[in-house]
Amino acid sequence: MEKKKVRKAKPSVASPKPPLPYVCVSTEGTLASKTGTWRFLTPKYQNKIAPCSEACPAGEDVESVMVLAGEEDYPGAWDKIMEENPLPGVCGRVCFHPCEAACSRNALDEPVSINALERFIGDAACVSGRKPDAPVQKRHERVAVIGSGPAGLSCAYHLARMGYGITLFEAEKKLGGVLRYGIPGYRLPRDVLDREIERIVSLGVEVMTEVRVGRDLAWEDLKKYAAVFAATGAWESLPLNIPGEEAAGVMSGLAFLKKVHSGEKADIGERVAVIGGGNTAMDAARTAVRLGAKVWVVYRRTKEEMPAWAEEVADAGDENVTTLFLTSPVRIVTERGKVSAIECIGNILGDPGKDGRRVPLPLNGSNFSLKIDTVISAIGEVPDMSFLPAGLQRDSRFLSVDGTGSTALKGVFGGGDMTAQPRTVAFAIGSGKRAAMAIDAYLTGNDAADALDAARVGNKGALSMSRYRSRDGQAQDVIAPSDLNLAYFKREKRTPKGKLPLSGRCEDFAEVNLGLSREDALREAKRCFNCGVCNLCHNCLIYCPDLAVSARPDKQGYEINYDYCKGCCLCVEECPRGAISVEVGK
Ligand code: FAD
Repeated sequence: MEKKKVRKAKPSVASPKPPLPYVCVSTEGTLASKTGTWRFLTPKYQNKIAPCSEACPAGEDVESVMVLAGEEDYPGAWDKIMEENPLPGVCGRVCFHPCEAACSRNALDEPVSINALERFIGDAACVSGRKPDAPVQKRHERVAVIGSGPAGLSCAYHLARMGYGITLFEAEKKLGGVLRYGIPGYRLPRDVLDREIERIVSLGVEVMTEVRVGRDLAWEDLKKYAAVFAATGAWESLPLNIPGEEAAGVMSGLAFLKKVHSGEKADIGERVAVIGGGNTAMDAARTAVRLGAKVWVVYRRTKEEMPAWAEEVADAGDENVTTLFLTSPVRIVTERGKVSAIECIGNILGDPGKDGRRVPLPLNGSNFSLKIDTVISAIGEVPDMSFLPAGLQRDSRFLSVDGTGSTALKGVFGGGDMTAQPRTVAFAIGSGKRAAMAIDAYLTGNDAADALDAARVGNKGALSMSRYRSRDGQAQDVIAPSDLNLAYFKREKRTPKGKLPLSGRCEDFAEVNLGLSREDALREAKRCFNCGVCNLCHNCLIYCPDLAVSARPDKQGYEINYDYCKGCCLCVEECPRGAISVEVGK
């Protein structure tokens, strides 16, 4: 081993002490020394928009909801959601939760279970029978809403809350659109849907079911309404365009689901092929499994390209649905006019097509047949716009609306799946709210585009009804994860989603996803960073070397004494949630 070198200490020599440097001494104390004049950077408290709120197509103030839930104020959290979205129990189950994809916790560990918390809050309000506030001021105008899916329900709700008289026209027996006749009960129990719809109607909405506009009521009859909102969805299934599709035993995904959810008997036999890879296909497949069939999903691309929600695809696999990837149907084989088999061909993926997705190319000689009793075609739906009057612009697939939801006809607005927007429940709810704002602006003689601008939440199209109604021009800055100080947050895994055990799951339509317990709901709410919003953690006050930060007398935040803040911006650095901004040269 190498020997450690030991430095010998030099003998100390008494030397004269160096003279002390000159020091300024004030006889008046530090208060006299107003160091604020040195400042080049100015810290300023400024709450910002959390990325989850910006990403919510329904425009929910997710961050505020999390704060209230973290204080176990679930009624308050519910009220907060209801300012923006009348269907929390529904969305807490079926929304694809872009809020979670945007959650800043992704930069540390896993996103907060915002979706499951929304369900918890919605269900807690259902149990307690909580109701939304009735409108304070009544207006004399009546508005017609056509279609009672999430877009129509949202528009009716927000306008009713603003005091307008609403008549809601629905072609079917019951309200809800796809929520009732498309999405199966094992994903969205009907008692949850019924309770949330009942609360919307209880605001005084006049409901006209089994009235199909264009068949039972002429468009001209709507002239007595001050404005019209059309949201009739997309219910016409695209054809397969293969021989044999006229045979008995071939049906569209939505027609099949509607039949089952209307309580009618759907005679599908023992072997079912579902064509398509979207949500309708997954719902049809899992529903057919619950009716006792063996199910094959035939999808022309690979799992990675499937448009269906990944969780749905996984659940379908768990429930014994077999998916034939890279496979297209070429012919439906019939016997005495009834489906007996389906002939398919294998594909390979070619170059990307016009939509950017790789085009499936048939592999010659790879044909095979599958013995089948029923073919369910779920390759896409388009709107039926035959009831709309001349003068409305539409292409073959959509009703055209501008950024406020206005159509080419004055006083006529559109939204939801019949317009060109992502086909999700949250987008439909957002479009109904947007139309409610635009209709209110139209009926009060205001510019809709300006009014909507004031209601924007960030830059992704979300609109806030509370901003619209208060017109307080709140800040638009969205906090980025890089603006947070993640050192202050503990890593903590999110609560795993509970599901019904597989054995016996498919014997009925019982809800598969289980909700959060009260304990887990609180734990999840507390995992929220509260991005961009001061939560009185005191860090700014503790770290300020100039003692320039003090708590406000009303305890609603802090104030900075700029006479003494010399702009070191330690407070900005140490604020965990980025609630302090910096201005240069002020
Ligand atoms: P719809 O929900 O389609 O409602 C339109 C309503 O208008 C219907 O009730 C219809 O009967 C009525 N109507 C039609 N014509 C007339 C007329 N002339 N007069 C009067 N009434 C009329 N999105 C998600 O976010 N999560 C999911 O899990 C999900 N699952 C889905 C599963 C299926 C099977 C399908 C088909 C879609 C799913 N979606 C999902 C998409 C989502 O349901 C839709 O984007 C949403 O329902 C669209 O709402 P909407 O109000 O525009 O239309």
